[in-house]
Amino acid sequence: MKRELGIARCGLACCLCSENTECRGCRRDGFMDLSWCKDAQWCENRKCVMEKNLNGCYECAPEQCRKGLYAEKIKPRAFAEFARRYGLAELLDCLERNERAGIVYHRSGILGDYDDFEDLEKLILFIRTGKR
Ligand code: SF4
Ligand code: SF4
Repeated sequence: MKRELGIARCGLACCLCSENTECRGCRRDGFMDLSWCKDAQWCENRKCVMEKNLNGCYECAPEQCRKGLYAEKIKPRAFAEFARRYGLAELLDCLERNERAGIVYHRSGILGDYDDFEDLEKLILFIRTGKR
């Protein structure tokens, strides 16, 4: 885990992403190159966060939001909601502990052990406890 890469604006875990050897996420604005998050140019969540002058959706109300990535994907929404409730440091601590326990963020492509959920609260509990 590259803890220094932290959590993206949408809640995705740049610190654990399998693309984090090349990708610089979307936090540093003002440069557009191949090593930026490939979704950054059109990302609705990024645009919205910037318009609201926030650091991330975790400073807003991700649980209720269905914009952009949140329309379909539960993972970034659950991560952002976790960070809203318990803080970014707690999220990073839990992810680090879970990684040591063998829980894999990206097992195949961009899918891993946190993708196997349909219920937001169950995923939040899994992040917190490392147990299903
Ligand atoms: S551009 Fe959007 S999808 Fe990509 S890391 Fe930033 S907020 Fe997330
Ligand atoms: S949670 Fe939704 S409304 Fe709030 S900043 Fe993120 S995308 Fe915008």
